[in-house]
Amino acid sequence: MTTVVPGLMQKKQFNIINILQHASIWHGNSEVVTNSVEGGIHRINYFDLYDRTCQLSNALSTLGINPGDRIGTMAWNTWRHLECWYGLSGFGAICHTLNPRLFPDQIEYIVNHAENRFIFIDTTFIPVIENVLDKLPKLEGLIVMTDQEHMTDDMQKLTIPVYCYEELLEAESKSFDWPVFSEDTASSLCYTSGTTGNPKGVLYSHASNLNHAMVISHVDLFGLSASDSFLQIVPMCHANGWGLPHNVPMVGGKLVLPGPFMDGKSLFELMTAEKCNKTCAVPTVMTFLQDYLDSENLQIPYMSDIYIGGSAVPQSMIEEFETKYDAAVKHGWGMTELVVGTFNCNLPFMKELSFEQRMKLLSKQGRPAFGMEIKIVDDDGKSLPHDGVAFGKLMARGPRVIERYYKADKSALDSNGWFDTGDVSTIDENGFMQITDRAKDIIKSGGEWISSVDIENSAVRHPEVQIAACLGVKHAKWEERPLLIVVKKEGFNPTKKSIVDVIAQEHAKWQLPDEIVFIDEMPLTATGKIDKKPLRIKFNNFLIKGEINE
Ligand code: AMP
Repeated sequence: MTTVVPGLMQKKQFNIINILQHASIWHGNSEVVTNSVEGGIHRINYFDLYDRTCQLSNALSTLGINPGDRIGTMAWNTWRHLECWYGLSGFGAICHTLNPRLFPDQIEYIVNHAENRFIFIDTTFIPVIENVLDKLPKLEGLIVMTDQEHMTDDMQKLTIPVYCYEELLEAESKSFDWPVFSEDTASSLCYTSGTTGNPKGVLYSHASNLNHAMVISHVDLFGLSASDSFLQIVPMCHANGWGLPHNVPMVGGKLVLPGPFMDGKSLFELMTAEKCNKTCAVPTVMTFLQDYLDSENLQIPYMSDIYIGGSAVPQSMIEEFETKYDAAVKHGWGMTELVVGTFNCNLPFMKELSFEQRMKLLSKQGRPAFGMEIKIVDDDGKSLPHDGVAFGKLMARGPRVIERYYKADKSALDSNGWFDTGDVSTIDENGFMQITDRAKDIIKSGGEWISSVDIENSAVRHPEVQIAACLGVKHAKWEERPLLIVVKKEGFNPTKKSIVDVIAQEHAKWQLPDEIVFIDEMPLTATGKIDKKPLRIKFNNFLIKGEINE
């Protein structure tokens, strides 16, 4: 029974649209700038973007969309995609961000599993859906995120109704009566990339998104403000865009969106023209930028903070951005199931550290955000000490952590409410968590374990190595041994010995890779991380029979 106490604060059910309403009233002139799909820079402020979001929500009613419907978006980071995020959630529907880089059978599985009735889609991705269209029985239509001028005859030939986004909006009023519902209502849906089995849906609520957006505002996390110009490189379909499309309008910052232009040159030009001082990306995208800056001998004078996560950030990358470009790399860890989990930050004692000691610490994945409980446990579930040495399963708990996957019949948690992240890590005496590996990537060599992440991070210290993946592959004597797969930097030809020598500076002899294989291109996952699955298939017998499975 709830006791009503006179004098309590007001209770208002929170709706995601409240963020955009706040931005439009109090930061109405702040801009959302996009390198647009159609070509050219597009600018809009929050005031006008809010009006268009009202028009969009009216259009949802016109299309017969109902609250609770899962409506897909397959789109680049653009202002229209932002309108969909707010319009769909505000309306009470569920904004389901689809990752276009997934395999066609995964896209088919996800659209059917989520029962998407409509998909908002960029022109670029129409072939992706067209490819599987006859296997999507519940899909009723596509809304092409462009204007009438860029609609083509081919689109009208699809065997499904196709609408023009701008035409739909044009016909609608700029005011919308937002529904009031419980803040525990689902607002957004994002599927994991499904490294094992089918992708799994993670359903966020209005409350969890608000909680997340407020927490990542803390200075030791993203700490953004109305005076920042933030370049959102992380795709809005990757782990809920790390929560930033909610956070930036909440604080009234300028939001800069790269659209389809994710190469080093385009990112450099956009961040410079828009005076971006902060950005976020996975390490592979940052290497595109580094390579471009390096080759053209350029600087990024406005950029002060670069938030990198999604896979381990090599220490050499943090060092390079600080010493060569005067930009601080903030290394964070997270996952679709909880979005942002930990972030590295400066603590008072770090002022006393040498450069080398500080860099070593900054390369860890950091300390938990408020409300994110983490612990490491052994195989029996016993908690391990925070000594920076003991490593075990990384578990997480809290109001921003998944309870169960979408449509799953059982909880994803243990009996005490902890979620097993599938990562293995240490936590040191100062609370800095460091990912040792994904549980399935740890290399089990005889009785010893070798961290594939550590070997990769050392390998990319070699100035002629572009990217490296370390795999545990079958070995006749030791069960598994490390094999290093390397992509060379363009125009360079490093020897195997020189790479091993660099790794040996940070590793014991028994941890060094048994062999190095050079390949032309590293396979990447749909979110731009190294995809070890095809490499394992190809090279699993390499150390036994020298065999490559093509
Ligand atoms: P996703 O849900 O696709 O973002 O993948 C989440 C997984 O990416 C985590 O469980 C980790 O294995 C990995 N990951 C994310 N951030 C980091 C990081 N900073 N260092 C190492 N691995 C990371």
